Amino acid sequence: MYDKGLFEKKESEQYYDEIKNVFLADRYIVGTCPNCGNDRAYGDQCEVCGTTLSPEELINPRSALSDAVPVKRKTEHWYMPLANYEPWLKEWLIEGHKEWKNNVYGQCKSWIDTGLQSRAMTRDSSWGIKVPLPDAEGKVLYVWFDAPIGYISATKELTPDWEKYWCQEDTKLVHFIGKDNIVFHCIIFPSMLHAHGGFVLPENVPANEFLNLEGEKISTSRNWAVWVDEYVRDFPDQQDVLRYVLCATAPETKDNDFTWKDFQARNNGELVAIFGNFVNRTMVLMHKLCGGKVPPFHADIKDDKDDAIIAMLQSAKQKITESLESYRFREAQAEMMNVAREGNRYLQEREPGS
Ligand SMILES: [Zn+2]
Repeated sequence: MYDKGLFEKKESEQYYDEIKNVFLADRYIVGTCPNCGNDRAYGDQCEVCGTTLSPEELINPRSALSDAVPVKRKTEHWYMPLANYEPWLKEWLIEGHKEWKNNVYGQCKSWIDTGLQSRAMTRDSSWGIKVPLPDAEGKVLYVWFDAPIGYISATKELTPDWEKYWCQEDTKLVHFIGKDNIVFHCIIFPSMLHAHGGFVLPENVPANEFLNLEGEKISTSRNWAVWVDEYVRDFPDQQDVLRYVLCATAPETKDNDFTWKDFQARNNGELVAIFGNFVNRTMVLMHKLCGGKVPPFHADIKDDKDDAIIAMLQSAKQKITESLESYRFREAQAEMMNVAREGNRYLQEREPGS
């Protein structure tokens, strides 16, 4: 991209910590939120009211490293002029990917409609991937320029066949991410790939919204989280229960809440009462009537009541396939549970073996 002249070098003023002698990343500037008055808002976001901020908007900004009042200093960075990619993004994303999830498509459309700003792809920092240019002393690559390239280099580390995954036309590239990273995976990274050429573009980015815990935002720093290692220790061999509940409550279309009450209800009311019951009855009957083996299907011994359940099974398979292929995993799992429910009803009605 640099060789093609696709970056703009621009001077700007940024907050600098004169005690620590460093430019401050947005996250390292704290101050009062102009929107809600929270005095611990960060230079990129207020975690109390959720407003996206720039460091200039903070009232009484301070350095999170030294508590010093930061000063403005001139610095130069390489920018990606995203406005240049708007016509292409309109064609590829807005026209070409209307099938993407509403929450993802809507966010992208609103950014593109508002007009994309140039974004600096370098930072002043003592750590990070150094910008490989002679006039770039002290500059590193912006994390969201660098991180997706890391997806490619990680594949390259893994296999000499990496091009099969990134450059072959029939490759299906899918990014599974959270909603706070939509802009990087739907707009910036695809624009980078398009600008470079020769790489496949994401076919879908089925981003999820946020999962809260008992009504509050999950926070590892405040220890408000379900730690998987503790879960596995406290509930040995119950990984599938957690997988099931996480899929059933996944915030696929809007923020959702994980509660232990719901975990209990789904375990007892769905996994045990419906699914476990169905599997158990089937196994017992198979041993009692069929010598422990699934017997071959005999079309000539079925009757009208069987036709209904066979039709249900065939349509369920189709529905589950469609849901999985369009990344609606909750729906797929609910349909799967429905098969068990119908199976129980069938066994109840027919009473085989009695
Ligand atoms: Zn706020």
